[in-house]
Amino acid sequence: MTTTASLAPDRMHRAGGETVGRLATRAAERLIADARLGGPVSPARLAGVVEPTVTAAGLGAEAALEVWEGQLAPTCIAVDHPRYLAFVPGAPTKAAAAFDMLVGASSVYAGSWLEGAGAVAAENRALRWIADLAGLPAAAGGAFVQGGTIGNLSALVAARDHARRSRPTPPGRWAVCVTEETHSSVTHSLRTVMDVDMIVVPGDARGRMTGDELRATVATLDAEQRDGIFAVVATAGSTNLGIVDDLAGIGQVAREHGWWLHVDGAYGGAGLAAPTVRDLYTGIERADSFIVDPHKWLFGPFDCCALIYRDPAVAHAAHTQHADYLEAVNVDGEWNASDFAIHLTRRARGLPLWYSLAAHGTDAYRDAIEHTIAVAHAGADLIRQSEHLRLLVDPELSVLVFERTGWGDADYQAWSDRLLHDQYAFITPTRHRGRLCARIAVINPTTTVEDLRGIFDSMR
Ligand SMILES: *Cc1c(COP(=O)(O)O)cnc(C)c1O
Repeated sequence: MTTTASLAPDRMHRAGGETVGRLATRAAERLIADARLGGPVSPARLAGVVEPTVTAAGLGAEAALEVWEGQLAPTCIAVDHPRYLAFVPGAPTKAAAAFDMLVGASSVYAGSWLEGAGAVAAENRALRWIADLAGLPAAAGGAFVQGGTIGNLSALVAARDHARRSRPTPPGRWAVCVTEETHSSVTHSLRTVMDVDMIVVPGDARGRMTGDELRATVATLDAEQRDGIFAVVATAGSTNLGIVDDLAGIGQVAREHGWWLHVDGAYGGAGLAAPTVRDLYTGIERADSFIVDPHKWLFGPFDCCALIYRDPAVAHAAHTQHADYLEAVNVDGEWNASDFAIHLTRRARGLPLWYSLAAHGTDAYRDAIEHTIAVAHAGADLIRQSEHLRLLVDPELSVLVFERTGWGDADYQAWSDRLLHDQYAFITPTRHRGRLCARIAVINPTTTVEDLRGIFDSMR
């Protein structure tokens, strides 16, 4: 067999300096310029764009980039736009986003200490900062995983594994206590992935789980159901309302029963760094496991969740994979990030947070988070003062849920569509107690009170 020059099999790997330079410049421009909001187009239209892009001969780097720049990128909504206020936005610092490019370019395998020692050490330093904010013991540790979904699942799998090992006889059905506000990733993990029952504890008026409600609910269960409980999931910043559960009260009940306390702070955990709201989290220091997504309110790029265990040995026992070809990496005293969650190969997804923390210092994080809380609360005041809007829940963190008096479902959707069509803002309606309403989440320090005023005015 002969190989022609143009088909030299190492050509893609050896050449390409020009492409690298062009993409690096383009990435830098995107990071420095103001983000354009963008918005989706129909699947049929995009099918027509992407269908001809994968060919035997290739389009060439420039032409392929033009497809992305001209036709694909504008259909992806920029989560870092200051008026992207739907769901939970993302707002990476420039340092974090730019460092992510370097991480990607460096081909770091961050699953094991053997291969990624410096990356894992730096990630663990960032985890240490978070663990200290939560008041977890010095031995606490874990890993950065893809997102809150994998973080919650990995923690709950570790919790059940621990229960299986420590109980002489397993119950007929395992169960976990949650609330109506518990994130869908937790209920999905429990029901579909783990096949575990859920005991739904009714929340108070704001959906907040308290120790008293938990105790009262458990008292209504028969002995068999109660024996099946191995964990309780508390939420530190519910996604829909930004409300923090009564962590101290829940932790007390969990401790009395010997249950694992998992705290889901995917969105709200970042508030631990903000002194004005830190009291809301009292009791988090008792958590057996805790997650927070740096890709939400800790200004990291996608996709990144910090998963921390009080006793990492328990998670290690649950999650370490064993195989002949993995023996080389299992060395005592070395931290293999892959041993603490459901994953093996992993990118060093915590490094952008570490770099930005190292560059800016933790005070800058405190100030940026406090600022977003202040902007959200100023927005709440604007709503209170307005004639056409009504706040549905007093905000605790940085989520505002409110209604426009007189509006029905179609009005909210039309308003949301118009904001995006006008490229002014991206806001999607939510439901509160079954009724459609407006919701905004402020996590981007470049979002201003004037931005919120403009949005409220658009609802007149
Ligand atoms: C966003 C969120 C999750 C899920 O996290 P992903 O990173 O999207 O997987 C879980 N819990 C809460 C409270 C969240 O806000």
